[in-house]
Amino acid sequence: MTETTTIARTTDEAVLRVADASAVWAATPYAERARVMRAIADALDAAGAELIAIAQEETALAEGRLKGELKRTTFQLRLFADEVERGDFLDVRIDRPDPEWPMGAPRPDLRRMLVPIGPVLNFAASNFPFAFSVAGGDTAAALAAGNAVLVKAHSGHPRVSDATVAVIREAAVEAGAPADLVLVIHGTQHGVEALKHPAIKAASFTGSIGGGRALFDIANARPEPIPFYGELGSVNPAFVAPGAASRRAQQIAEEYLASVTGSQGQLCTKPGVLFVPAESGIVDALRGAAVPAPAPLLNDRIQEGFVAGLEEMTGRADVSVLREGEASRQSPPEATLLLTTIDAVLDDPEALVREVFGPAGLVVTYTDASELERVARGLEGQLTATIVADEDDAADLEIARGLVPALVDRAGRVLWNQWPTGVSVTFAQQHGGPYPATTAPTTTAVGTASVTRFLRPVAFQNFPAALLPEALRDENPLGFSQRVDG
Ligand code: NAP
Repeated sequence: MTETTTIARTTDEAVLRVADASAVWAATPYAERARVMRAIADALDAAGAELIAIAQEETALAEGRLKGELKRTTFQLRLFADEVERGDFLDVRIDRPDPEWPMGAPRPDLRRMLVPIGPVLNFAASNFPFAFSVAGGDTAAALAAGNAVLVKAHSGHPRVSDATVAVIREAAVEAGAPADLVLVIHGTQHGVEALKHPAIKAASFTGSIGGGRALFDIANARPEPIPFYGELGSVNPAFVAPGAASRRAQQIAEEYLASVTGSQGQLCTKPGVLFVPAESGIVDALRGAAVPAPAPLLNDRIQEGFVAGLEEMTGRADVSVLREGEASRQSPPEATLLLTTIDAVLDDPEALVREVFGPAGLVVTYTDASELERVARGLEGQLTATIVADEDDAADLEIARGLVPALVDRAGRVLWNQWPTGVSVTFAQQHGGPYPATTAPTTTAVGTASVTRFLRPVAFQNFPAALLPEALRDENPLGFSQRVDG
C-alpha cells in the first residue's frame, strides 16, 4: 500500500490513531477543549501568509478571497470554542421522579444529554481549501462536540492540506492535547477504506452528487451503518417578482451577476437559475452589465465538468445564449448566461434546473407569475431559494405568499431580497436542505447548530450523583443550562 500520510503508513493505522485521540479528547474538560480550539485558531492565523501562498498555487483562488476564507475559518473555531464553554449544545434535560406521572406509571429519574459520537471522517471540499477543508466547518464542529477528526484531503489541494494539519497538530500538542486530534489521509481509495473502518462513527462530505451518493451508499452498507452528512448539489433558484423587476432591473441584474460569478461561480450557493418577467428590462440589463475578468477554475476536473455542462445546455433547442465571451469555454472561462422560458423548464425541469459548477447561470423568462409556484413545487431539494420582490407592492407580496411555503418545503434557507452566496457563520445559520442538496436534511453544515451532527443522545436512569456527568448533576457545577421538569 502506498503511504497515506506522512504520519501513518496505512489507513488502518491512521484511523486507529485518531480513535485513540478521540477517546482522550472526549474526556477532556469543556473549558480545556475550548482553550485548545482557540490555540489552533491562533496558530492558523499566525501561519496565514504561508498557508495562503500554497492555497493560491494549488487552487488558483485569489489572495483576497483566500484571506477572507482563512479569517472565516479561524473565527469559526473561536465561535465554536465559545459554544463549548456555554454548554447549551449538550441539550441537558432532567426529569425528576414523579410517582403521579399521568402516563399511568411512575416516572423514574431520567437525565439526558448529548455525548461525542466518536471519530469523524471528513471529506474535504475542493472549492474551500480552508473553510470546508482540513480546518473547516465540519472539523470545528466535530472538535467542539468532543471527537477527533480524520480528513480525506481533496486531491485538488494536497499540499495546503498537509501544511494546515501540521499547524493544527503542533498547536494541539503545545496546548496539551493529543497530536492525532486531526490527521490527514490522501487518495480516493484510502478515503473509501477509512469510511468502511469500524472505528469511524460519522462522516461528512462536500462535493459532487455522484461522489457523495457513492460514499453515502458505502456508509449505509457498512455492517454498522453510520451517519453520513453529505452536501452534494444545489441550483439555488432565484425568483424575481414583476414589481421589483420593473422598478430596479439594473440593480437586480448587477447583483445577480456579482453573485453568480463570485469565486468564478464555484460556490455551492451560486444562484444558478434566475426567473424574471419576460417584459421586464432585466434580460437586457443582464446582457449589458459588467462581469469580472475571467480567472482559472479550481482544477482541470472542474474546468472539464464546466465545459461539458455548458455544452449539454447549449445543445438543446430550447436554450439560447444570452451572453458569452470568446473564451467562455476555454480556460480561464468568461462568464456565460443562457436563456430559456418557463414553459421549457416545466416540460423538462431535471435537464434545465441543474448545477453547472462555474461562472454560468440560466435566465428563465415567464409571463404568468402563477407558474412560478408550479416550478417551485417541482424543485429538487436545494440549499437555498431566493425571492426578489417589493414588500409594499401588493401583487409582488401575493406572489411571494404563494412561493414561500413551496420554497420552505424544498430548501434549507429562503432569502428575501438578498443573494445566497456569502454564507455567514452564525448561531441561526442553516446550510443544508432536502436531497440532493444534502443526504441529511435535518442538519446544517454551517453555523453553531452543526455541532449536533457529531453528538449522540444518552439518558441516565436512576443514577447516583457521583456517577453522573457534571452537566447532569443537580448542583450544576458547570453552570450549563438545564431543562428541569419536576
Ligand atoms: P467530488 O468529485 O465529489 O470529490 C469530493 C471528494 O470525494 C474528493 O475527496 C474525492 O476524492 C472524493 N470522491 C469523489 N467520488 C468518490 C468515489 N466515487 N469514491 C470515493 N471517493 C470519492 O467533488 P469535487 O472534486 O469537489 O468537484 C466536482 C463537482 O462537485 C463540481 O463540478 C461540482 O459540481 C460539485 N461540487 C459541489 C459542491 C457543493 O458545495 N455542493 C462543492 C464543490 C464541488 P479525490 O479527490 O481523491 O478524487
